[in-house]
Parts: sequence; C-alpha cells; structure tokens
Amino acid sequence: MSDSVLEAPTRPELANYVGGEWAPARNGRTYQKHNPANPSEVVGEFPSSGEEDVAASVEAAAKAFPGWSDTPAAGRAAVLMRAADAIEARVEEMAADMTREMGKPLREARMESARTAAIFRYFAGEAWRPKGELYEQAATGSALYTLRRPLGVVGLITPWNFPAAIPAWKMAPALVYGNSVVLKPAQEAPLTSLHLTAALDEAGLPAGVLNVVIGRGSEVGTPLVVHPKVRAISFTGSVTVGRQVRDEATALGKRVQLELGGQNPLIVTADADLGRAVEAAYAGAFWSAGQKCTATRRIYVEAPVYDEFRQRLLARIASGKVGDPTDPETEVGPLVNEQQLNDVLEAIDQGKREGGRVLTGGERVDEESYLVAPTLFEGVADDAMLSRAEVFGPVTSLYRFDTLDEAIERANAVEFGLSASIFTNSLEATQAFVKRLEAGLLHVNSQTAGADVHVPFGGIKGSGFGPHEQGRAALEFYTEVVTVYQDV
Ligand code: NAD
Repeated sequence: MSDSVLEAPTRPELANYVGGEWAPARNGRTYQKHNPANPSEVVGEFPSSGEEDVAASVEAAAKAFPGWSDTPAAGRAAVLMRAADAIEARVEEMAADMTREMGKPLREARMESARTAAIFRYFAGEAWRPKGELYEQAATGSALYTLRRPLGVVGLITPWNFPAAIPAWKMAPALVYGNSVVLKPAQEAPLTSLHLTAALDEAGLPAGVLNVVIGRGSEVGTPLVVHPKVRAISFTGSVTVGRQVRDEATALGKRVQLELGGQNPLIVTADADLGRAVEAAYAGAFWSAGQKCTATRRIYVEAPVYDEFRQRLLARIASGKVGDPTDPETEVGPLVNEQQLNDVLEAIDQGKREGGRVLTGGERVDEESYLVAPTLFEGVADDAMLSRAEVFGPVTSLYRFDTLDEAIERANAVEFGLSASIFTNSLEATQAFVKRLEAGLLHVNSQTAGADVHVPFGGIKGSGFGPHEQGRAALEFYTEVVTVYQDV
C-alpha cells in the first residue's frame, strides 16, 4: 500500500501513479488547481506531465498485462470488490474533494462518489458472466466457440464534470476483463480520480495494471492516443477534442470509443403531471450547474399548459438554493472555472442578441464564486445558437408546441443525440417518442440526466462513436472476439 493519496494536494510528487508508485512529472513541472467557489484558494498543486510520463506508464502497463490477464477473472473481481469497500470508506473525503476542486454541490458529489462503489461491484460480477458462445463445427460436430479476450493496454481520457463516475465506469470494465490501463484524468479535477486510484492501490491491484498521468490534453492526451502500444482509447469529453482523438487513433488502426456532448430535449404534453415535469426540468437543467452531458437544454411544452408550466418552473427556480456548494442544501453551485464562466455568459449574451428573452437569471450572482443564476429563456428561434449548441452551464429554453409530431421533429433537429425525456400520461405519445426520438437514452416521466450502471450508456448521431459504455455493452469495447475451432 502506498502513502495516502489525501496528502497528494500538498505533495505534488505523489500525484501521478506509475508502475504502482506515486510519482512527480518527470519534467518537474506542476500547475495549481483553484476552488471555483473561492478562486483564491489553491486546492492543490499537481504534476503537469508530458510525453515521457505517458511512455513510462504505457511501458509499466505493457509489462503488467500478461500477469493481470492470466489472473483468473474472479481474482481480478476480488480486487474490484475490495476497492469498492475502500471507496465506501472514503466517500465523504472524496465528495468533499470533488466539491472543492470542481464545484459540484456536495449533495450530488456524495451520490456520485457512492455510485462509484456500485460501479466497481457491478463490474466485479462480470467475472461470472459468459465471455463467449458455444457452437459445433458443421462438418464434424466438434467444438466451435467464440472467446472474448482482453485487448492489452488501453488509454482512458476523462472530463472534469463526473470526475469519479466516468473514470470508474471506464476503469472497472477495462480491469475486470483483463486489460491494463493508463488513465488521463481532466486537469480540472485530478484529485477525485486519485481517490479511485488510492482505493485500487489499497485493494492490492498489482503494480502497473493501472497508471494515472495528470496534465494537459495536448501534452498527455495526444501522446497516449498515438502511443504504438496502446490498443484502444475510450474518450469522454467535448465534440471538438473527441473528433480529433478519433481521427488520430483510427488512422493508427486503434479501437476508439467516444462519449461526447448533448443538446437534450424534454417534451411535456398537456396531460402530463406538471408538478413532476417541473421538478425534472429544474433538476435536469440546473443541478451540477447544467454541467452534465445529459442536462436538459430545451423544454417543449404543449400549448394548453405552456403558461402554467412556465409559471410553476419560474416559482421552482425562485425557491431553489443557489450558492455555496459545500452546503448540503445547495442545488446549484459554481461553474468549474473562469473560462467556463465567460463562455456561459457570452452564450447568454448571444442568446439575447439572437432574439431570446431571459425570463429569469442571465447573470453572474457572486463576485468571487463562478456562480451563474439558473437561467430560463423564452422566444428562442429554432435555428438560434441556444437551440442547437451545447452551452455547458445552467441555461435552458422554453418552447411552445401544438402537436406531438411537431415536438418530436423539433427535438430531433440537432446534430446531437444523447438523451431525451417526455412527460406524458399517454401511451400513444410514449410509443411515438420511444420509436422516433433520436437519442441513445430515452426517459419517460423522468429527467434527462441519470444513468444506471447495469445498462448501456451512450449517445447516437453526433453524441458518440463506437460501442456504448456500462452494462454488458462495455464487454464490446474492452474485449475482442476470437473464434476457436477445437478438434480433439
Ligand atoms: P474536453 O474535451 O475539453 O476534455 C476531455 C478530456 O480530453 C480531458 O482530460 C482533456 O485534458 C483531454 N484532452 C484535451 N485535449 C486533448 C487532445 N488534444 N488529445 C487528447 N486528449 C485531450 O472536455 P471537458 O471540458 O473536460 O468536458 C466537458 C465535455 O464533456 C462536454 O462537452 C460534455 O458534454 C462532455 N461529456 C460527455 C459525456 C458523455 O458521456 N456523453 C459525459 C460527460 C461529459
């Protein structure tokens, strides 16, 4: 067991994890991470790693692969189970660090931290599930079967907005199927992923099976993507970077999985339970300050209930608690950094310039914290930026519709296809929605955000590429099929 990761913020030399050791960046460089709720507070000083750290990590992972992949799956699962226990023992510290480094309100940070233990336990269960199919040979009747084998070294690149859940749902399947891993967490939220790393370290994961390299995308991400010993890249993040990663990796013949942005619609029909629909709209649009790939960006409400829905949503926004993310009652906290703050404020301005009306919010509400008030637009044109682009903040727009066909058509009129919701009491409307809405995740009478561990998670259209994540879908990505003709 290595030193406690909780000391890492004050000891930057402990923040990379290479070949089972906590290590500095080989170039000696560091960067400071600030608290978005209190930007003068330095959360920690972390390695600003480079290509040589990636190379050492990939070598360590390649060296560890034969032993790890030869370990019985049940033995690999036992490590994940022990890591889940270790995560549970540190949920409070992990949640507090998550809140401090990227501003997620504590109540959501706690849920996310606890969920990572469930992710590890679910994937531990994969040790006992089938890895192939048995047939018989046409000519002889001898055994003919498929076998799913691990790929080797896989590279995982993750964003800051779910700094526990996303690394966990990539690492856990990669490891249980027998791969070795190099993780590049987001620069904006390295500390949370170090808790996961420490939990696996405490659980006795052999040296080199997991390696973590912290630093900039261009200096750590790119060398990882192009390293010849990395067989596959699983990436979650923005569309621009994701497409670049896909192009670089596929040109080198690698397997790639992308989970990208969303522009997620919520449809409310006239017969819906408006109280529940308003709650879902609020949570979907504003929890985590709208910094979820599955956040609700467009709310289509059927004309007869539009005015009532608007008034009730405005009342809900007025009563929601906005502010200090360490207060367990806070629902909406700050944006992750100054850049995001400026981007979101600029998007709000553009929304106004393009004819949208701000019904509430629309501005920064604290001089210190990167806090933007929950913002509700109305009168946004279907071809305006707010109706089409992903604005990664607490900003959503209301639209009125007359027929369900029209609502579905407008909901589909974006390049993304991650998540969508409908609130309705009509079976017919439900069926039309399930059949025609272009998104990988469909919710009937629940908000656009949320992901169960045991089912596939992922987008279609511009929101994703390659096999989905989580559930048994993860097997597709982290293993490859060989076919065995076995005569005696
Ligand atoms: P980002 O694309 O800026 O960064 C994602 C990761 O890629 C980070 O670790 C970053 O350092 C790294 N990176 C940056 N440049 C790179 C390069 N040239 N080569 C390799 N790696 C590089 O995204 P972000 O700002 O951290 O996250 C927000 C975005 O993520 C939003 O668009 C959001 O919708 C998306 N997201 C999608 C999902 C999903 O499952 N669909 C989930 C969460 C977030």
